[in-house]
Formats: sequence, C-alpha cells, structure tokens
Amino acid sequence: MHQRPVLLWWVGAFAVVGLLIVGGPVAALLSGPPPALSATTAIDPLTGMPVAPATVAPVGDATAAAQGSDGGAASEVPTAAPTGGTGRTWLTGTDLGARIGGFSYRWYPDGSITPDPAWVRANIVTEQVPIIGSMTCHRLIFPQLRAALREIQRDGLASLIKTDQYAGCYVPRFIDRDPSRSLSLHSFGIAFDLNTATNQLGTAGDMDPRLVAIFQKWGFAWGGNWTSRPDPMHFELYALESPR
Ligand SMILES: [Zn+2]
Repeated sequence: MHQRPVLLWWVGAFAVVGLLIVGGPVAALLSGPPPALSATTAIDPLTGMPVAPATVAPVGDATAAAQGSDGGAASEVPTAAPTGGTGRTWLTGTDLGARIGGFSYRWYPDGSITPDPAWVRANIVTEQVPIIGSMTCHRLIFPQLRAALREIQRDGLASLIKTDQYAGCYVPRFIDRDPSRSLSLHSFGIAFDLNTATNQLGTAGDMDPRLVAIFQKWGFAWGGNWTSRPDPMHFELYALESPR
C-alpha cells in the first residue's frame, strides 16, 4: 500500500540530485568571472567592487628587499585558475615593506588585479613632477622621484626622457599580465616605465647611463640590469630615501 509513495520519494530524490549535479556547472557557466564573494563581503561605494578584508603589512626579511626583479618581492600569489579569485600581498624587506604596506586584492584572468580600495585611497596619489608632469604612484616615492628628476633637469639631461613615452607607474597587474606569476611592483605604485619605444622588454635598449645613475642614486633600481630578462624601460623602488 505504501509502496507507491516510497517509489515517488525515490523518484523525487533522484530528480533533486540530478538537478544539483547538472545545475552546478550550468550556474558556473552562466555566472562567469569574476566569481561572487560571500554575502558578507562589503561593496566599495566608489568603485562598485567588493572590498577584500584589509591586511596588515608584515615586516619581512632583509634579503627579499634586495630582489631586483619586477614583482620579485611580492608574495602569496594565487595559482592560476580560469575564473580569477582573491589574494593577499605585501612587500617583503625590512623597513621598505612595512612602509609601502600590503593589501588584499581580487584578480582576473586577464592578469589585472583590483587592490583593496581602502589601501589605494590611503596610498596611491596623482602628483605633478618635473619633466614628466602628472604621475600616479605610491605617495611615499614622490619626494625622491622629484629629487631625481630635478637632478636630471639640473644636469641638462631632461631631453633624454621622452615625455610621450612614459608608460605609467601605478598599474595593478601581475608580471606580464600572467596570473601564474608574481605581482608587478607597478601594483604597489613604486615602479615606472620610461622611453618605452626603444627600451622594450628583453632588449638592451638605449637608456642613457646618466639617467640610470641618477635614478639609482635616489633609490630606484633599473630593469636593464636584470641579466635573465632585461627590462630597460623599467625603474623600481629599492630604498626609501629622505631628500634634503
Ligand atoms: Zn615596468
């Protein structure tokens, strides 16, 4: 007598399980990247982006500060996945890492990232500098960036910087826009690219050694010195200076 209800129960159960099995991938296909965060994630009112929880920048070890490659000092890089995701990063290296700070970020398959908007608001600013004009970088690098550019001007070398070939400072992304690689130091707003047309990645380039020397004096390492894969357009912060 009660066989029919039991049979119906089993049919119903199979139907529900079937829906769950088929429905998951279908829903995943429909939603696409970036994946939704949990319901407790706050939405930033300015960007409309989810706000990842802020992280405290740990003070790292001294050796990492000497790493001379774009993004070499960034840590906790997510493994590549087709839908993007979230991560946390910070600079390592004694005083430098602690002062530049760390942030959580969302990342995307195109190799771009969205750092925690609160970290961006607190650290990334647009200011005027000699020769180049407007630059958007981490606030802490401007004093020594200005000092370097003033010195370049004073030495009569300003025309060596092609102002129409300045290719950005704060550009939140992975190295090569490849999510399996480290974050570029451009993500922290502490690297900038100059004279791009004749200084492409992997070439010797034609960056004038007098420019390189002045930037190095003011705490910026030159990507043209990297032996594995020179990046002669690229300069990045390796030490915070206190310009007089
Ligand atoms: Zn660069």
